[in-house]
Amino acid sequence: MKLLLTGGTGFIGSHTAVVLSQAGHELVLLDNFSNSKQAVLGRLETILGHALPFVQADVRDTAKVTQALQTHGIQAVVHFAGLKAVGESVAQPLNYFANNLQGTLSLLQAMQAAQVHQLVFSSSATVYGEPQYLPLDEQHPTSATNPYGRTKLHIEEMLHDLSASNPAWRIACLRYFNPVGAHDSGLIGEDPNGIPNNLMPFVVQVAAGIRPALQVFGNDYDTPDGTGVRDYIHVMDLAQGHLAALHFLNAQTGWHAINLGTGQGYSVLEMVKAFEAASGKPVAFNIVPRRPGDVASCYAKVDKAQALLNWQASRGLPQMCEDAWRAQQRNMPSTT
Ligand code: NAD
Ligand code: UDP
Repeated sequence: MKLLLTGGTGFIGSHTAVVLSQAGHELVLLDNFSNSKQAVLGRLETILGHALPFVQADVRDTAKVTQALQTHGIQAVVHFAGLKAVGESVAQPLNYFANNLQGTLSLLQAMQAAQVHQLVFSSSATVYGEPQYLPLDEQHPTSATNPYGRTKLHIEEMLHDLSASNPAWRIACLRYFNPVGAHDSGLIGEDPNGIPNNLMPFVVQVAAGIRPALQVFGNDYDTPDGTGVRDYIHVMDLAQGHLAALHFLNAQTGWHAINLGTGQGYSVLEMVKAFEAASGKPVAFNIVPRRPGDVASCYAKVDKAQALLNWQASRGLPQMCEDAWRAQQRNMPSTT
């Protein structure tokens, strides 16, 4: 199929581009580089052996997105583009509403104008709010605890209404748990600007000597070792989930919400130990108070993805850590 990937040079978009291209799809990437670098395109070319067509644009530029869809004869869109930092969203909600909500609305208008009705959307486990039971299945009530989460929830609801308005739409909202790791070449990976908000990139930077110590946010949770438990999923497994979702949508109309996780939770201290083993480097840490808004545990029930997509994650924690470390070692964050 001919596919447009918005946010295609970002962390998850670039890894998904590798998987989709290697599966034989024809891709066009679109990004405004607000949180990624042009150098990713060269790295994708090295991995794939050929360049991918690229459009530098903001998804809010409806005319330019429409033109990209029409010029390239696009049949389906995978929509990664958006802002994703929870703390920043609390400080700058309008920026999040503009990028994520307005951006998605613009994309949908462009898709409607170009008669493209197949969409895979990057949603998040954040739409479940505070877990009322575990593991989280897709029937769990949804809610938002911060502006970022609210944008994901609103977008899911917009997409639901849209699919009800016209049976031509085929929409999958993929609710990601905690993507980590990198492509095994080490050429692409997670490249956060400034101080990482998320655990894994922070741990990587401590092991690499870039930061002195990890702050572990609380060790008094109701979990086996007191630290927070999350469902970490290798980004290449997540990427393969998109391939499976596109295949699923070729045979299914309507709106579908599907968890992409492993179903297995690991604590912060288990992550630190696994990373030390993979990298051979010590990861110093201090226990500090809980981070506001964090929950004790969050992990997925993955039966729906297995049943509908015939997909499940296959890469374990050691590989997540080894691949993240290799990307660091290959100096992935540089723009060279
Ligand atoms: P990322 O920041 O690495 O990638 C997002 C890409 O979108 C970046 O390249 C950025 O430049 C681009 N972008 C942002 N706003 C844009 C706009 N208005 N127009 C065009 N391009 C724009 O983030 P990621 O980790 O790859 O996340 C991809 C998607 O997955 C996001 O929607 C995010 O909310 C969602 N998600 C991520 C995680 C995670 O932990 N990484 C978890 C759940 C959901
Ligand atoms: N965490 C931590 N120190 C950090 C970053 C995260 O202890 O510097 C913990 C956090 O409290 C949570 C887990 O690591 O228990 C995963 O946090 P992350 O921000 O990566 O993902 P999310 O909270 O979005 O699930």
